[in-house]
Amino acid sequence: MQPTIHLLSDETINQIAAGEVIESPASVVKELVENALDAGAQKITVEITGGGLKLIRIIDDGCGMHRTDLRLSVVRHATSKITQPQDLFHIETKGFRGEALASIASISKMVVMTAQEGAHGDLIEVEKGSIVKERACARNKGTTIEIRSLFYNVPARRKFQKTAAAISAEIFRTVTVMGLSHPNVQFELISNGRKAIKTVSKDGIESRAKELLGEEFVSGSFPLEFESGEFRFSGLIGAPTNNRNNKLGQFLFLNQRAVACDEVSEAVREGYATRLDEKRHPIFLLHLQLPGDLIDVNVHPQKLQVRLRNPELVCQKVSRAVGEALAKSIKKVELPKVEFTAFEPVAVDYSAPLLKENIVEEEQELRFDQDLVEVMGQVGRFLLLQEGKEMILVDLHAANFRIIFEDLIEKSESKAEKQGLLIPLEIELSSIESAMVLTHLDAIEALGFTILSRAKGHFSVEAIPPFVSESEVKQMLCDMAHHLQEFIGKQDYEKERQRALARSAARFSKPKNQYSKEEAKRFFDRLRACASPLHCPKGNKTMVHVTDDTIENLFRTNQKTTEGASL
Ligand code: ADP
Ligand code: MG
Repeated sequence: MQPTIHLLSDETINQIAAGEVIESPASVVKELVENALDAGAQKITVEITGGGLKLIRIIDDGCGMHRTDLRLSVVRHATSKITQPQDLFHIETKGFRGEALASIASISKMVVMTAQEGAHGDLIEVEKGSIVKERACARNKGTTIEIRSLFYNVPARRKFQKTAAAISAEIFRTVTVMGLSHPNVQFELISNGRKAIKTVSKDGIESRAKELLGEEFVSGSFPLEFESGEFRFSGLIGAPTNNRNNKLGQFLFLNQRAVACDEVSEAVREGYATRLDEKRHPIFLLHLQLPGDLIDVNVHPQKLQVRLRNPELVCQKVSRAVGEALAKSIKKVELPKVEFTAFEPVAVDYSAPLLKENIVEEEQELRFDQDLVEVMGQVGRFLLLQEGKEMILVDLHAANFRIIFEDLIEKSESKAEKQGLLIPLEIELSSIESAMVLTHLDAIEALGFTILSRAKGHFSVEAIPPFVSESEVKQMLCDMAHHLQEFIGKQDYEKERQRALARSAARFSKPKNQYSKEEAKRFFDRLRACASPLHCPKGNKTMVHVTDDTIENLFRTNQKTTEGASL
């Protein structure tokens, strides 16, 4: 039969739009907080229960709505923010599409209470996109929006939602990002009745960053202030040594809008020039104020991406600003010490490609014969061993990292060693760090910790793994919290998480300064017993074989150095 064409009902249209705009409870929070910001709110409270699937309530003290506007607000393509096409090129508000409320209302049970300055309040209840109840209510200036039973009529969407803990973490990141985008607005996030975030800072981005991202983020960064014509940039950029292997420590705001913009991120990198390894990413928190007509925000349904109208100009200025800020600050701080480079033997690279910790391959087949290996001594951070005519150099740091890492992986399945502390360590973490530690507490404790959560952000550490020193516990937890953010929004991550935590923890264990011959032998035997003894979990070599030829080469003139030979 020939299908006939018909127009879709409003309800269907709204649900289709919701499919694009509202992926998860975190997208609801984002849209509603943006509306509150557009309404000029100074204080925004976000309350969630059950990861937001049961309830999301956003309370703001913004301008509120008149009764007629309230009715219109839940209608699709109804907005107070733009009127004509050319307005799209000068958008100064977060919203402009007029579809968030209509979309959310079509897939939830929504109540909106609102009042303008000096006026009485109004309330509407919306179901499947239609107003089902309307009455007066008591309300100070501002708006409260309650969303219950999100996705109740779209079972497919509901089924694909992650666990409540995973969604809460996502909402956590959303509110953190919003809090960084507007450092002068106060934010509060209450999850299942518990305060998860509460900002108090009012004096700018640095104190806001301290509150939301932690002391370490700020102390490991340099300030950036830059002005050129209509361009104003400000924020913090990480010290080159304070880099990461992912982009989670990057917070970029274009005209106070949190966006991903690869061009700009790359321009920041370029500003670091050779100060940064190619595979590493800087951390930064940057607010770029650009002429409005240079940004096209009408390119992504969730407004998470933007298009720049003159990317070269913007990027060139960003790189310059970063370069200048670094040059100014680096003069003031001590440059990182150059790595130890004794002599340069040519490694006999029998393991050819760089092995990552998770590729076990045939590392078991070590070539040396246990009895022929003799410990010769220790030079600084290297152990010297002899095997027949060959010499083996072991990097104690890399080797120790490998040994502890595998120990942790193995033990967390049984029971990790714990060392009780006589006086518990009191530790304060930033909001995002605390949320990560709380969400993944079991997995962290499996490494040998006992941690009690006290007041908001305060923890009492009662036992620690034996290989970590008390003075480094806080740094270690922060590092873990940072890596745990990678799992926000992911599912089935248990194994991956265990490795990430073990890697993060093992990095903090240090080899001894001086080994006796016996200890050195035992250390080497432990290394040899590892599943992947040749590389540390980051992929650096734990040992190199130095042959006669290698040594001879060192004495010849015009010697060639082989790539990958450095220790
Ligand atoms: P958009 O933000 O794109 O305009 P929305 O569907 O998010 O579309 O909101 C529709 C309209 O409802 C807004 O244009 C605004 O006028 C009004 N509105 C929504 N939330 C609030 C709020 N918290 N305070 C005041 N007005 C609001
Ligand atoms: Mg909006």
